[in-house]
Amino acid sequence: MKVVLFFIAGFYSFMSLANAAEILVTKLSDEAYLLKSANYNTTIGALKTSKGIILIDPMPGEDNLTALSKAIQTIYDSQAVYLLNTHQHEDHVGGNSYFVKGGAQLVNSTEDLAEIKTVEVKSHSSADRVFFHSKSNTIFVGDIYDTDWHPTFYAGGIAGFVSAVDAILELGDENSLIVPGHGKPTRKTELKMFRQNTLDWVSKVKELKESGMVLSELQHNEQLKSIFQRFNVENRAVFVPEKAFVRFIERTLTMIESGA
Ligand SMILES: [Zn+2]
Repeated sequence: MKVVLFFIAGFYSFMSLANAAEILVTKLSDEAYLLKSANYNTTIGALKTSKGIILIDPMPGEDNLTALSKAIQTIYDSQAVYLLNTHQHEDHVGGNSYFVKGGAQLVNSTEDLAEIKTVEVKSHSSADRVFFHSKSNTIFVGDIYDTDWHPTFYAGGIAGFVSAVDAILELGDENSLIVPGHGKPTRKTELKMFRQNTLDWVSKVKELKESGMVLSELQHNEQLKSIFQRFNVENRAVFVPEKAFVRFIERTLTMIESGA
């Protein structure tokens, strides 16, 4: 699949309007685009189907949404007809009402949208949905998978995470593009690596905890830090703030203790 990345501001004169948020556009195919505001890091899908344009996970923010709506109009010469959300967190549903006001319909099921297959799982939230658009061979997985942050499998625990990833891997084929809610899309190989790194992380936390380590010792443990760095796929100098690292250890411990 050819992925062409271009900046809409460079192509469309309307973006030169003062104060307009910049929308970054990735074309996957004639029927599938990824959109993202330059100042908000949720990845949004815009798919063309026989029933009209489907928008996945519009982000909040009036400026972002005005720019997003213009970008969709420019790409498809049409507006969103249906809205889908991978889960109910604000960074994924915050733009729903903007498009509903514009006439789009928020749908909970893709039963009537034959070109989109939905799989329901529980990992990042208690109701995660994965959307497979077969025509572009793209799988929208929300925050079950993250290439910009550490895993956040807090609702389903490790079992929920593994079955969610397995459900994603069953869709499409080896060339499918996996689109996380945050960060860059990848193929399945990287998702499998993410699953393995997550399992390695959990078992190392468990092992060190059982050896008697307390939180402050876990925080400075080199083995744990090195597993954590595997999630830093873009090699950022500071991957996440130290506070977030400690919170991730704490939440992992809570999950282990609850047996999830
Ligand atoms: Zn999110």
